[in-house]
Amino acid sequence: KSRAKRFEKGQSRVTFDDVAGLENAKQDLCEISDYLRDPSPYRRLGAKIPRGILLMGPPGTGKTLLAKAVAGEANVPFFSISASEFIEMFVGVGASRVRDMFQSAKKEAPAIIFIDEIDSIGRARGTGLGGGHDEREQTLNQILNEMDGFEPHETVVVLAATNRPDVLDAALMRPGRFDRKVTLDLPDRPARQAILNIHARGVPLAGDVDLVRLAALTVGFSGADLENLINEAALLAGRKGKSEVDMQLMLAARDKVVLGGLREMLLSD
Ligand code: ATP
Repeated sequence: KSRAKRFEKGQSRVTFDDVAGLENAKQDLCEISDYLRDPSPYRRLGAKIPRGILLMGPPGTGKTLLAKAVAGEANVPFFSISASEFIEMFVGVGASRVRDMFQSAKKEAPAIIFIDEIDSIGRARGTGLGGGHDEREQTLNQILNEMDGFEPHETVVVLAATNRPDVLDAALMRPGRFDRKVTLDLPDRPARQAILNIHARGVPLAGDVDLVRLAALTVGFSGADLENLINEAALLAGRKGKSEVDMQLMLAARDKVVLGGLREMLLSD
């Protein structure tokens, strides 16, 4: 039986340069990485930095990427768990993993903690299964207790991601908890172009490839979709024995990503 990992810990090498668009979100989070890099000027001013920040946005808009960028910019360790993993665990396991993670992060502070899919345990009470004292609620309570228990000198910032802010329990958003919100939108045309540029960096492109046009033809695509598009195009090129990706392959990959999204939508219904 494989031992499930308790939580992930790493040193992020992602920076804000790897994140295209999302200018407002980056601006908000700049302050956090600045503080983590050197808390002393903020301390001297008596400024209290937010402890918890909620990253809200549709799937694939870069929530995880942005959280890693904050850690990378500040050059601090990045601790992460996905809250959806706790749903099927034995009672008490989620809470003890949360405790372990916060303990390790505090030991290595300054640090970032990232909790993905917080909505899977942070739903308003009464709407979930188990009606009250189930694993989700214990895990959530542990997170909230840990955040309430931070000492002023413990420079740990908790970022949590959700694409369902509407279902979250209000207790999460109380002062001292996730009292700051950062919204990530689907990329607009210039942002799509910037994302395509980032992900096409390592790909040999034929002369006819027009990323400006491709950005115009990918309305509604998330950053993850665009990354996927470039990769699909490179795979298609490989399959056809080509040494470059041309515009026709890009457009075929675009259709593939659109159809993949439709298929997923139909299957989940
Ligand atoms: P989910 O809600 O599905 O967990 P997410 O919002 O956390 O998604 P990420 O995992 O950060 O999204 O994004 C997936 C990948 O898509 C990233 O690793 C990155 O390669 C690409 N991506 C998404 N948004 C951007 C962006 N703004 N700039 C550059 N790349 C992006």
